[in-house]
Amino acid sequence: MERTPARLLAGGPIASEIRQAVAEDVATFRAVEGRPPGLAIVIVGRDAPSMVYLTQILRGCEKAGIDGRLVEIGGEASEPRVTKTIAALNADPTVDGIIVQMPLPATIRLRAVVDSIDPAKDIDGIHPLNAGLLRLGYDGFLPATAHAAVEILRRSGIEIEGRRAVVVGRSAVVGMPAAFLLVRENATVTVCHRRTRDLGHHVKDAEIVVVAAGHPGLITGPMLRKGAVVVDVGINVVDGKVVGDVDFDSARRVASAITPVPGGVGPLTNALLLAHLVRAAQAQSQAKAKGSIVGSAGRPSRGANADEDSSTTPAAGPFADSTVSRGPA
Ligand code: NAP
Repeated sequence: MERTPARLLAGGPIASEIRQAVAEDVATFRAVEGRPPGLAIVIVGRDAPSMVYLTQILRGCEKAGIDGRLVEIGGEASEPRVTKTIAALNADPTVDGIIVQMPLPATIRLRAVVDSIDPAKDIDGIHPLNAGLLRLGYDGFLPATAHAAVEILRRSGIEIEGRRAVVVGRSAVVGMPAAFLLVRENATVTVCHRRTRDLGHHVKDAEIVVVAAGHPGLITGPMLRKGAVVVDVGINVVDGKVVGDVDFDSARRVASAITPVPGGVGPLTNALLLAHLVRAAQAQSQAKAKGSIVGSAGRPSRGANADEDSSTTPAAGPFADSTVSRGPA
């Protein structure tokens, strides 16, 4: 008997809700601070695919009333030039969040650049402090893509607690943070990578499969357990078409729910990035009001056991009613 095709977990409607909350919080922030929250996107050298992504983020900023700006550094720039530019943005009170477009030119060390970002402005959670906070179950800034991969499950009402989850991919920006977030949601998590023996065995056992490998068609329908929930984080261009890491047509016949590519994790990632920015702006403004330079990082979050919304960081002062602070972290 032919199975009913899986439910589509579309990111668009959830992203719209988040954008709406962001726009409301931006309006409150502007009224209190007399300026919009500011996002600086540092780009070292230009390449076409990343420019498409950046244009989307800048358009999102404009719609939400955020001051989004591109800080372009020529591809031939030296490492000190890049880190000095970031230091200037760290010191700029009109810049609340900084993202650095990857990949960097081969002559520039990723670690040097990542370390130079102020953790309080690191809205894509790449600084080691934020990575460590996530690992320990504290509230820091989450990498937006990993956050989106788990948020799409939560906001679609998919049960995570107690379920067996497999994450395919162990990168610092997607796979590992997604795995830690799933553990925080009380899933039992296995992380797979290129050296995993018998990937198929692990995937077949999983009730939730998150795929972030950058390998089109890596996961197919017959590999999945019947009724599995599939989150496809992959973005690949095959024959001019954007596809994920999962063979959508075959997977959809076996899974109970699946994210499409495009239109799944991607739109949510961009919306969450803006939500993180607003949170950074609020936290810095509150820290300034208290005469401290401490940013938002370092508050305990739900950890493994707390019942509150994992994405909540309670706000105080002028932003206490902030919609975003009640939304994603
Ligand atoms: P990455 O740094 O290249 O990491 C890929 C990971 O997948 C690695 O851990 C690698 O294992 C593993 N892997 C690759 N091929 C595999 C295979 N055949 N079997 C098992 N594991 C395999 O990539 P990334 O930055 O994490 O990105 C992953 C994907 O997400 C890419 O398609 C990227 O375009 C996409 N992405 C999407 C968004 C979004 O908003 N939706 C944002 C960022 C990235 P090893 O560690 O053993 O090498």
